[in-house]
Amino acid sequence: MSVDRPVIDALRADIVEVGRRMYARGYTASNDGNISVRIGDDRLLMTPKSVCKGFMTPDMMCITDLEGRKIDGVRDPSSEMLMHLEVYRHRPDVRAVVHAHPPTATGFAVAGIPLDKAVLAEVLTTLGSIPLAEYATPSTAELPAAVRKYIKAHDGMLLANHGALTVGTDLFSAYYKMETIEHFARISLVARQLGRENLIAREEVLRLQQLRGTYGIKAPAPICADGSADGPDGAAVCQVVQSPSGDGQRLVPELAGLPSGRTDLSGDLGDREIRLTYRELSALIEDAIRNLGPG
Ligand SMILES: [Zn+2]
Repeated sequence: MSVDRPVIDALRADIVEVGRRMYARGYTASNDGNISVRIGDDRLLMTPKSVCKGFMTPDMMCITDLEGRKIDGVRDPSSEMLMHLEVYRHRPDVRAVVHAHPPTATGFAVAGIPLDKAVLAEVLTTLGSIPLAEYATPSTAELPAAVRKYIKAHDGMLLANHGALTVGTDLFSAYYKMETIEHFARISLVARQLGRENLIAREEVLRLQQLRGTYGIKAPAPICADGSADGPDGAAVCQVVQSPSGDGQRLVPELAGLPSGRTDLSGDLGDREIRLTYRELSALIEDAIRNLGPG
């Protein structure tokens, strides 16, 4: 696969446009963020380091191989190049990678809260769940290792205490996923401020997953109804979405104070709220009734 010169020139202009939109929307400040596009089996077109993404010109872009060696360009490639290379190595279907620091999504990444709840049908069909890759020092080899865990099963993820990463089969699809993540984060934040985040039932989540094909959406991995999403090498092989079975209503308000997924009732919880699935609540009630016994 190789790409003709006019096509590469068009892609340079597209990267400039996506950078301009990211900056205009406040997804990046100063020289933050980076963008790359696959332009051949072993060639990437990439934003250079140390430029504001809102004011790039097409001639600024670098061409590298998949080892990160610069093939063409006056400037040096992005300081987050290693993260981009890691994505392309593990996802032959991916042709573009976008990284930014959209403030609300990054706020979730700073708070250590993944966007993995079944809240919006459109997010479930386009991205599934958006996990949180663990913290790694930017621009080091640690960051690709953190991204590796999720990239085979996810087209978008939060990077703890850093930002977000999205990928796609073309540049604009990768960029729109970044918009979707930030939009989802803002809606989630408002719902949490309003004190209620009703979840979509698991049955509906699985139905939405089946509709992906109808919408022409190629999801990188299925949504797992239950259990661990980790494969033998510790990498995610499917997507986990938090959704209750049953009518989809939250039975207990949003958890405050306990790590995600924890339902351990031991210890002094005071007035803190906990989150239970319908099954867990039923088991607790059955247990309580049993313990009441006769008399
Ligand atoms: Zn960054």
